[in-house]
Amino acid sequence: MIDACDLAPEFIRAIAPYVPGKPASELAREMGLDPAGIVKLASNENPLGASPAALAAMQAALDDIGRYPDGNGFALKQAIAAHFGVGLDRIVLGNGSNDVLELVGRTFLVPGTSAVYSRHAFAVYMLTVQAIGATHLETPAQDFGHDLDAMADAIRDDTRIVFVANPNNPTGTFLPGPAIEAFLARVPSRVIVVLDEAYTEYLPDADRYDAVAWLARFPNLVISRTFSKAYGLAGLRVGFALAHPDVADLMNRVRQPFNVNSVAQAGAVAALHDTAFVARSRALNSAGLAQVIDGVTRLGLQHVPSRGNFVLVRVGAADSVYRKLLQRGVIVRPVAAYHLPEWLRVSIGLPEENARFLDALTEVLGGADPRATAVAPPVAHGAA
Ligand SMILES: *Cc1c(COP(=O)(O)O)cnc(C)c1O
Repeated sequence: MIDACDLAPEFIRAIAPYVPGKPASELAREMGLDPAGIVKLASNENPLGASPAALAAMQAALDDIGRYPDGNGFALKQAIAAHFGVGLDRIVLGNGSNDVLELVGRTFLVPGTSAVYSRHAFAVYMLTVQAIGATHLETPAQDFGHDLDAMADAIRDDTRIVFVANPNNPTGTFLPGPAIEAFLARVPSRVIVVLDEAYTEYLPDADRYDAVAWLARFPNLVISRTFSKAYGLAGLRVGFALAHPDVADLMNRVRQPFNVNSVAQAGAVAALHDTAFVARSRALNSAGLAQVIDGVTRLGLQHVPSRGNFVLVRVGAADSVYRKLLQRGVIVRPVAAYHLPEWLRVSIGLPEENARFLDALTEVLGGADPRATAVAPPVAHGAA
């Protein structure tokens, strides 16, 4: 390493780079495949793409692209305020919700303080804490999900933030609303609780809870939301936090003034209003999730019950299965970095994309054609 890099803080040099899902264009290049024939189920993206209303709004916003965006994001904040019934002073806009997560970290952490998160939790929590040189306290998982009691017990005097993902990525695990509410009541008010609800729009009715209503009772609660998943705008980079006005004020001071660009602000406003698109995304996802779970179960594979737009499947030699799927033009996500070396995470796509994945997986595992075993009685599944 060059001298300057040798002098970078040890905690920066210790960071393991985040490995995103492989882009379809990269696989096409590497394997000489037709990009149009590649199925990417690796980054929990919305297979419907973006809402047409959002696309039209973004197109219109281009007319003004020579100007700086509204640094205060007034129109988007107004739309969010109306949608969630909160004041403008409770909103912090982010360049994706990853930006929001980092803003919370940079607002409340310094070296010598600590943050708590669960094993198998979303990687950005660890990255955020590491980049600041604060201490990360990882608690053991419970059935692949968060153990909220262990997380509350892990809080020390120097703890400033606890990160909770609900549902969590990459596990898809879910904590019922009342459990989170009880957890909030247990956590000291001097500790910020980040409740990352990136997949909340996908929850079935029976699992829905209203974290926004808790803001009035828990001033240390920071809710993180994104336009990247059910709203179909992952490439646009927009997310936001809802928090106590004092917390939002501090985060907005740390935030770069133009962190959300003008096209993104316009697209997000239109996406928020297009509730039919979100409903369509949700219905497509629940059918696709059932399709994929049915398919992997027929192959005799274990999965972790998921409330997200993805599911963890236990395939054994995950790295080898991953590479064989790539050869068949199907991109999924290895999760060894999450301490899950035998598992692959597959995002839910269109019905035909899910079928492509299941066909390729069947081939790779040397099992029968899933369509051929579709009529087999359940007892036969484990043998596939
Ligand atoms: C995908 C995801 C996000 C969203 O990230 P963006 O930066 O908004 O695209 C946040 N949290 C979790 C747990 C996720 O899986």
